[in-house]
Amino acid sequence: MNNTPLPAGLNEMDLAAIETVRRVAEKILAPEAATVDETSSFPAAQLHALAEIGVLGINLPEQWGGPGLSALALSACVEAVAAGCASTASALTAHFLATDAILLGGDDALRARILPKASTGEVLGAFALTEPRAGSNPVDMRCTARKTDSGYHVSGVKHFISNGAVADFIVVFAITDASAGHKGISAFLVEQNTPGLIASQPERTMGLRGGHVFELSFDCEIPAENRIGQEGSGFRTAMKVLDNGRVEVASMCLGIAQSALDAALGWVKQRMIGGQPLAGYQGIQWMLADMATQLRAARLLTEDAAAKRAQGIRFSQEASMAKLFAAEAAGRIADTALQIHGGYGFVRDLPLERHVRDLRIMRIYEGSSEVQRTIIARHLINQ
Ligand SMILES: Cc1cc2nc3c(=O)[nH]c(=O)nc-3n(C[C@H](O)[C@H](O)[C@H](O)COP(=O)(O)OP(=O)(O)OC[C@H]3O[C@@H](n4cnc5c(N)ncnc54)[C@H](O)[C@@H]3O)c2cc1C
Repeated sequence: MNNTPLPAGLNEMDLAAIETVRRVAEKILAPEAATVDETSSFPAAQLHALAEIGVLGINLPEQWGGPGLSALALSACVEAVAAGCASTASALTAHFLATDAILLGGDDALRARILPKASTGEVLGAFALTEPRAGSNPVDMRCTARKTDSGYHVSGVKHFISNGAVADFIVVFAITDASAGHKGISAFLVEQNTPGLIASQPERTMGLRGGHVFELSFDCEIPAENRIGQEGSGFRTAMKVLDNGRVEVASMCLGIAQSALDAALGWVKQRMIGGQPLAGYQGIQWMLADMATQLRAARLLTEDAAAKRAQGIRFSQEASMAKLFAAEAAGRIADTALQIHGGYGFVRDLPLERHVRDLRIMRIYEGSSEVQRTIIARHLINQ
């Protein structure tokens, strides 16, 4: 992690926050990351340690309990958490999706009710968009919210929801007007103890095994004040939130890929083959050069998207480019790092095989690589 470069333009507060997060990630998250993976245990203690240094609110402005960090610093903090423990980073960024939805889509009453508590970690959030038959295209969703005398009746099933059963509140997207396509989707806040909310056991996943995902079934009455924004604004809110989320996924990829590259650099200097260190072989040097170049390119795309985010304008294309490139590059980097370790890379005593497994979902969630390409192409064609 010491090799991790920082972007230009960070202020003193940003730098102090990044240093604190890196220290906690190294001292508290990293030593437990293999155990979290082996035991598939939700990293509650790790999130608690991050909450103690204010990380659960680092995506929020000061008005709502956050530290008011720059978007570049937020990315660097997410990267540091992922370098320490990818499962913890996934649970953390799912919480950010939920609080971003309230920040970007909700009114001040809802923001005041939830965000200060969410920023301290007193409450944890989940973001429920995906359904069994609606992943890449959320407009296929079937979950409905029917108006009642006191609010709404939310009914339907959400699938693959990170933090779903452990979160205190869930941001749920549902249809309020079936005739209006994406403009008929609205967002709601459902609290965990709401009667009629049932969660599955966590799914058994290939990687990010501590970042638990659940199926959630809703047959719930919720008050009118739990609607997030106007009826019909849910899809737009979700897309804005996912722009932010995709930069955070890209940042997670940087953290894991940097760890893999650092491990490979350490290994090639000490592994002797044919009387010389592995680092002496040109074939290996070229692998390292490609890894570092791809990581640098991913980092620059991520910083570019974060810089656009800081300007407060839509940055969907930049976010998609960063997520697409970082997820694909990180997968290649971790695979090459494993290859450089030979058989040792395949053994679970070292973190390489975990990095490969943890990174695989980055090409799928928050919009697969195919979906990112579709978004980028749509911007190119329509501009
Ligand atoms: C560990 C994990 C955590 C998750 N966390 C959350 C969460 O917190 N909240 C949430 O709402 N969701 C979450 N998800 C869901 C995730 O976002 C979806 O799995 C993802 O969006 C893909 O949807 P799908 O699985 O239904 O695949 P599908 O949509 O069925 O896609 C199948 C394949 O078709 C491809 N495809 C789709 N459309 C096109 C197209 N137009 N052109 C070409 N190819 C296409 C896809 O790229 C993919 O390869 C999570 C998933 C996992 C596994």
